Amino acid sequence: MEVRVLGMHGGEVQESRSSCYLLDGHVLLDAGGGQALLSEGEADGIDGCIVTHAHLDHVYGLPLLLDRRYGCPTLEVRSIAPVIRTLTTHLFNDALWPDLTRIPDRASPFVRFVEVTPEVPVRVAGLEATPVEVSHSVPAVGWLVSLPGERPVVFSGDTGPTTRLWEMATARAARAAFVEVSYPDRLARIAALSGHLTPATLADAIGRLPPGIPIRLIHLKPELAAEIESELAPLLAAHGNIGIARAGATYRV
Ligand SMILES: [Zn+2]
Ligand SMILES: [Zn+2]
Repeated sequence: MEVRVLGMHGGEVQESRSSCYLLDGHVLLDAGGGQALLSEGEADGIDGCIVTHAHLDHVYGLPLLLDRRYGCPTLEVRSIAPVIRTLTTHLFNDALWPDLTRIPDRASPFVRFVEVTPEVPVRVAGLEATPVEVSHSVPAVGWLVSLPGERPVVFSGDTGPTTRLWEMATARAARAAFVEVSYPDRLARIAALSGHLTPATLADAIGRLPPGIPIRLIHLKPELAAEIESELAPLLAAHGNIGIARAGATYRV
């Protein structure tokens, strides 16, 4: 599977873009600010979207993406029920943004939201995707994504210390993982309150993943990135399979 990192940061400062990953060229995982980097043809070619949770740095690009897709087939956006509820109640509510589930008409709207059940796989435009609940400050899931029959790639989304996602990743022999680390250890209290990892709590998460698989670290708060990276240096030196994801990179996993 091919993973193109359109946005990987937990915020936006200058060039950094918030969470958005293009899978195999046509499925979007989260729709933060990174969606702006899609070309016109690429935006039109998106034929599925899965969402980890409803925080703005993961969804604010969705209204803007849909607004680029005139004449395209309805985009199906999948996530767990509380996330769909937040998006329809607070974002596509005809106040903050038009209700694009009714425009131009209910038969063929810009977007259709589809609820998924934790740990039940769904087919998304040729990929198999399984949501697994994680420990964030709002309802949130990580996703295991694969080509049918292959070992999955894990996307943590935003999470603090959690167990089930790593259990599922191990049970299904994940082939690679994109794992968040948002704050330096100095801000461990804020990380705990907001449901994020620091280098110290990340080390525990990595110990629960299949050993030796490629792990790319994501969601660093951009203004804290240098501090996080220096704290990560010993971990990265000890594990050649772990590295910080590069914005704009395409990974074959
Ligand atoms: Zn986030
Ligand atoms: Zn979040």
